[in-house]
Amino acid sequence: MVSVTVDSGALRHNLQVIRRLAPKSRVMAVIKANAYGHGLVIAARALAAADAFAVARVSEGLALREAGIKTPIVLLEGVFDRQQLDAAAAADLQLVVHSPEQMELLRAAPAHVQFKVWLKLDSGMNRLGFKGEAFRSAHAQLSSMSILKGPVNLMTHLGCADTPQRPNTAEQLMVFAAATRNLVGERSIESSAALLGFPEAQAEWIRPGLLLYGVSPFRGSTGADHDLRPVMTLRTSIIAVKDLIEGDQVGYGGDWTARRPTRLAIAAIGYGDGYPRSASSGTPVLVNGEHAALVGRVSMDMLAIDVTDAQRAAKVGDPVVLWGEGLPVEEIAIWAETIPYTLTCGINQRVSVTLLE
Ligand SMILES: *Cc1c(COP(=O)(O)O)cnc(C)c1O
Repeated sequence: MVSVTVDSGALRHNLQVIRRLAPKSRVMAVIKANAYGHGLVIAARALAAADAFAVARVSEGLALREAGIKTPIVLLEGVFDRQQLDAAAAADLQLVVHSPEQMELLRAAPAHVQFKVWLKLDSGMNRLGFKGEAFRSAHAQLSSMSILKGPVNLMTHLGCADTPQRPNTAEQLMVFAAATRNLVGERSIESSAALLGFPEAQAEWIRPGLLLYGVSPFRGSTGADHDLRPVMTLRTSIIAVKDLIEGDQVGYGGDWTARRPTRLAIAAIGYGDGYPRSASSGTPVLVNGEHAALVGRVSMDMLAIDVTDAQRAAKVGDPVVLWGEGLPVEEIAIWAETIPYTLTCGINQRVSVTLLE
């Protein structure tokens, strides 16, 4: 009953929009975490025009190669042991290098392996990367290693690009410029929010994730504001309809009380599918294409909808859209007090995915 549709035309459209926003940059399409819940291989095939793919884990890179994807693939966290290093070499995956431990691994690598390497600067987010002098020194050491394929590429990640009014991004950009001055190698700084908010730092490579899926990284706006189209639509259907009298309580904890005679529809979807339990009463859903409101607590397999005011009387079997076409996931994220990333990433295994070609 619950299904996700993935619109590959929308993915291709969004990639073109991104190219127009950053005409001088090559696109490393970020498809980690099962392409933010859209399906790793589905997304990679639809995004065949991307210049490279970025994933977080070796297993994701290997799955892409097994599916016959020949595009360059970057491991955003690099490798952590000899087994991963060998697997990455065999699959021709590019490595991000961000720690002294990874430098050691590369130093001990067998003579025949060759890697394209991205050296990561920690420009102030304090997650991954080398700082200042350690970065320059790692760069010099890497550059002399025999495993290196081509120049060392240079990257960093911005921590506050979705709030452009804060000073952090300008500071991080200055730190990156200073640390990489006079170094050869291609540069990559920006993910979705940054490439929109700070176009001057798009550099040779951009690393968009969220925008590809048609979603805005800025609270209070939607993908449509940037000419993007939603890729994922989450749907289910009505499995029961009933009439309540004033005072009836709905769901676990009796959290919601009918203030009027109410027609209630039960939809077959819950947190067991990845719909957020934190979505509060009032969260919009579409029933037969009309707006209605979720009421009461979300259960594991079901949720309740007030359909009293529907133009077209809701009945069992009617379609429900939870987010996607006609209902931006950005809006649901606000109701659920989260960010759209967690919603699309959170779609569970039991949900079937259909590809719209
Ligand atoms: C996830 C990630 C991205 C993509 O971020 P979006 O906000 O989805 O565009 C880019 N770079 C790195 C290092 C990441 O971890």
